Amino acid sequence: MIKCLIIGSGPAGYTAAIYASRANLAPVLYEGIQPGGQLTITTEVENFPGYPNGISGTAMMDDLKAQAVRFGADVRRGIATACDFSEKPYKVTIDGKTEIAAETVIIATGASAKYLGLPDEQKYIGLGVSACATCDGFFYRRKVVAVVGGGDSACEEAIYLAGLASKVYLIVRKNYLRASQIMQDRVMKHPNIEVLFNTNTLGLFGEECVEGAHLVRTTAGKAEKFDIAINGFFLAIGHKPNSDIFKPYLELDEQGYIKTTWGTTRTNIPGIFAAGDVADSNYRQAVVAAGMGCVAAIEAERYLNQ
Ligand SMILES: Cc1cc2nc3c(=O)[nH]c(=O)nc-3n(C[C@H](O)[C@H](O)[C@H](O)COP(=O)(O)OP(=O)(O)OC[C@H]3O[C@@H](n4cnc5c(N)ncnc54)[C@H](O)[C@@H]3O)c2cc1C
Repeated sequence: MIKCLIIGSGPAGYTAAIYASRANLAPVLYEGIQPGGQLTITTEVENFPGYPNGISGTAMMDDLKAQAVRFGADVRRGIATACDFSEKPYKVTIDGKTEIAAETVIIATGASAKYLGLPDEQKYIGLGVSACATCDGFFYRRKVVAVVGGGDSACEEAIYLAGLASKVYLIVRKNYLRASQIMQDRVMKHPNIEVLFNTNTLGLFGEECVEGAHLVRTTAGKAEKFDIAINGFFLAIGHKPNSDIFKPYLELDEQGYIKTTWGTTRTNIPGIFAAGDVADSNYRQAVVAAGMGCVAAIEAERYLNQ
């Protein structure tokens, strides 16, 4: 019987592991398919407190792991493939074969950004392609960038970037924006934003990093191909929280984020907690995920003590 099972090895999972080990809960953490989480696919992290000169995403996650292991967290390879939260102890199946019984479970499985599926997209990640304006916008000060998407987040990202970049193209597939009227107005009136309606991205180009995008605009059934010169290409077409296996038991919102009681990491099942991007459609920042991991571990400890 495990007292505290942590699923996921991003900032939320490792921070939960640090707090849970120091509270003597002997946590077991399963790393999942992406040990270290999303930050392992970025180059530089400049906004996590405590690193005045910035740090590479992988080095930062190595630090978090080392800190968790130092206090005794049992970090294991494995992916949670099923769960049974119908009764206590809660059960989680790892890699389709090993069943783990736990008194508390902290779910920290993150969310994955949606990409367009262009052949060059993955090649340029960290070299011009990003799915997070708050994280990477600073690198594009006084440069030209494009944002893909037509919803509220795309408009928000475009406005945020327009405060840093010299020009922002907003690439919109349809001939209208899906965003709320107020966001549409802000985008349309912004002097630094040019909206390209009816436009799709065909590919990206550049020697070592993104230097431009091949686009196609379709109007009245006629397709016109053209290129734009850009330094950054930001995806804002949504995220998919990694919550599928918990769906039969946990309350999720319409996008699949795990619902928690406001200001806590408590889910609808006592003893099951959700921390980080899997429960946060709003901020999706490493420091917020780490904070939520801390909260989840403290709540797990209090729950066990009750
Ligand atoms: C390219 C990029 C750059 C970014 N840059 C910054 C930045 O500069 N600053 C910043 O604050 N934020 C940045 N972010 C956002 C930041 O990475 C996330 O907010 C943060 O990583 C969320 O942490 P998390 O612990 O919730 O989840 P994640 O980091 O997403 O980790 C999820 C973990 O869960 C595991 N997992 C998933 N499913 C399972 C399963 N079924 N079983 C077991 N394990 C599972 C995965 O293997 C992974 O280890 C960036 C994101 C990206 C994609």
